[in-house]
Amino acid sequence: MNVRENFETITREIVETCKQVGRNPEEVKLIAVTKYVTDTRVEEAIEAGIADFAENRPQNYVERKGKYSDKTWHLIGSLQTRKVRDVINEVDYFHALDRDSLAKEIEKRAEKEIKCFVQVNVSGEESKHGLTSEEAIDFIKSLEQYSKIKVVGLMTMAPFVEDEEILRNCFRKLRELRDEVKGLNLPYAPCEFLSMGMSNDYKIAIEEGATHIRVGTALVGCELK
Ligand SMILES: *Cc1c(COP(=O)(O)O)cnc(C)c1O
Repeated sequence: MNVRENFETITREIVETCKQVGRNPEEVKLIAVTKYVTDTRVEEAIEAGIADFAENRPQNYVERKGKYSDKTWHLIGSLQTRKVRDVINEVDYFHALDRDSLAKEIEKRAEKEIKCFVQVNVSGEESKHGLTSEEAIDFIKSLEQYSKIKVVGLMTMAPFVEDEEILRNCFRKLRELRDEVKGLNLPYAPCEFLSMGMSNDYKIAIEEGATHIRVGTALVGCELK
């Protein structure tokens, strides 16, 4: 496992994939998901030049953000309402806003505007968090009441399948939904971004418009899994 080599490979792939579909590679942000690795790997990633990182557990998030505070940190994964208070003011981007009780708690605890991605369960898998595509629009409209929440984009996790068409379809649906929200021109929900694609499917996600790919295993490995 060599983080720098992985970073170079993935960066090259981002550039090539963007070229194939006529996108600007600068639109695609690579986020290193460090939930399965030790600090050594985080430091290798920093050395390699990676600037965006993600953790999924509030406590690990707070520790790492504190340790490597000059990097941009993304909180991914579901967040329990009672944990909001411990973490929310350290969050640069939150990728898993999926319910009103959570929005309400963020509003109560946040001392700044919080940049959020609304999580959508496009595939409809029961095991996954997120709103259905149908619920997402009304949910986003309802967020107008919360002054601390800014909807910068939508996030999804694709199903664990290998079928490319299923994955592509999932990413495409999220993009269409993003376009719909963007078209509403809500001042608190510019909804420009698409957080989608992980180690196994980021290439397809980029082809379908991903602006933030969340890559763990293929970039920094998974020592602690
Ligand atoms: C763990 C995780 C990832 C990264 O997964 P890999 O398959 O290791 O790249 C991305 N997004 C979320 C929400 C995760 O929990």
